[in-house]
Amino acid sequence: MKIGVLAVQGAVAEHIQMLSRLNTEAIPIRLPSELDGLDAVVIPGGESTTIGKLLSDYKLMEPIRELADQGFPIFGTCAGMILLAKRVADSSLEPLGVMDIEVKRNAFGRQVDSFETDLAIPVLGDGTFHGIFIRAPMVEKAESGVEILCQLYNNAVAVKQGKILACAFHPELTDDLRFHRYFLDLVTGDALAESNC
Ligand code: GLN
Repeated sequence: MKIGVLAVQGAVAEHIQMLSRLNTEAIPIRLPSELDGLDAVVIPGGESTTIGKLLSDYKLMEPIRELADQGFPIFGTCAGMILLAKRVADSSLEPLGVMDIEVKRNAFGRQVDSFETDLAIPVLGDGTFHGIFIRAPMVEKAESGVEILCQLYNNAVAVKQGKILACAFHPELTDDLRFHRYFLDLVTGDALAESNC
């Protein structure tokens, strides 16, 4: 298995490290040609407006949309979740639009309001998962094909649609490999089909 981590901006090295710890080859990618031969792509956190602009500049928007249409697995964290969304509230940002969710940027407040909290994520098992939220988005609306994996204050903060997975927090900044392992299980088809919480 070979996973590409979109390396235009943001927390790239941390995702590569998590995937390597799970004995999975992970490489940084910037060019459309580098998508060839991959089994999945990770879109890291960072600044969604910057990542979105660079995706356009590097001509990655259309190839990623086409892959998503074909059921290709994609995992977006924080800014990555924003980019996967169909709609971004109050923003001129052009997302990839491959997931039937509407997200709100900086939904929990400004940088000083970044916080950490333990989350219940049933698909990961019984123990809580440490959620690190950094100027995080939340899902305001999710259409029926979207499974809610985790909620905080009655808003979805982790969602899945087919093989597209997104979370508002940063699993790559923890020591807990379970979220990345869940994504790899989605890629290989080993994750449980029914996962709504
Ligand atoms: N607030 C950022 C944005 O809107 C996301 C922050 C993050 O990825 N940690 O793009």
